[in-house]
Amino acid sequence: MVEAFAVASGKGGTGKTTSTLALGMALAEEYDVTVVDADTGMANLLFHAGLADVDVTLHDVLSGSASTHEAAYDRFGMRVVPCGTSLAGFRDADPERLRSVVADLAADTDVLLLDSPAALGSKTAVLPVVLADRVVVVLNPTVPSLSDALKVQEYARSYGTETAGVLFNRVRDEDAVDRVGEQAERYFDGPTLAAVPESDAVRASRQAGEPLLAHAPDSPAAAAYRSAATSLDVRSGAAGAVADRFRSAVIPDPP
Ligand code: ADP
Ligand code: MG
Repeated sequence: MVEAFAVASGKGGTGKTTSTLALGMALAEEYDVTVVDADTGMANLLFHAGLADVDVTLHDVLSGSASTHEAAYDRFGMRVVPCGTSLAGFRDADPERLRSVVADLAADTDVLLLDSPAALGSKTAVLPVVLADRVVVVLNPTVPSLSDALKVQEYARSYGTETAGVLFNRVRDEDAVDRVGEQAERYFDGPTLAAVPESDAVRASRQAGEPLLAHAPDSPAAAAYRSAATSLDVRSGAAGAVADRFRSAVIPDPP
């Protein structure tokens, strides 16, 4: 069984990478989890996961010079596929190869989390959302962020990708979440998964190059992610069928 989630948002900096690794670690208590840095133009998951020094990354796989398993590292109870940060690596990468990478990984995992690019305006950027079964939308509790997030849902829906849920991050004021959250319940197809507080523990774990759940497992932010993972009822697609779907996915022009 496997289900693929894209972790996406309208803008950068909302907490997609933080959330991808935190949800991944929380889900890894129950499932075989693979996380992929599919933000191939602005990759930074490697810094969050202590993988900045590895030799082989997704860029090498997308350029055809390495196989998928060479870029997959066992870390923090998950498989982690980091992406490089060089411009040359991005230039040489063929984004369409992501389909076969995801298909390879799907054969051997229960949950695939694709840390996705922020702006969904290009063919490359939209691919993780196209490939995923469902999208986890990460947003900050402000009206502009909510409106960006709704656009993400609209894009995803236009590609047949459902909303798994909405994750508020960097919450300073519970009232703000209540206000915005009420609208979220109205406009989003999925539930509100969690409200993750603005937290020094999150910043410190990024500095330490460790996912939040490894660095500060007892923090309130970590607890919020664990509860979000519980609300994300993972569905099981047959691995073979899902892998075939990935391999043959047509990359549409953005609407
Ligand atoms: P994205 O992948 O969406 O660009 P990141 O997960 O890299 O966002 O987060 C951007 C920055 O904000 C990082 O430095 C991260 O440590 C910080 N950050 C994310 N979530 C929180 C939070 N809840 N509290 C404090 N800092 C946060
Ligand atoms: Mg990121």
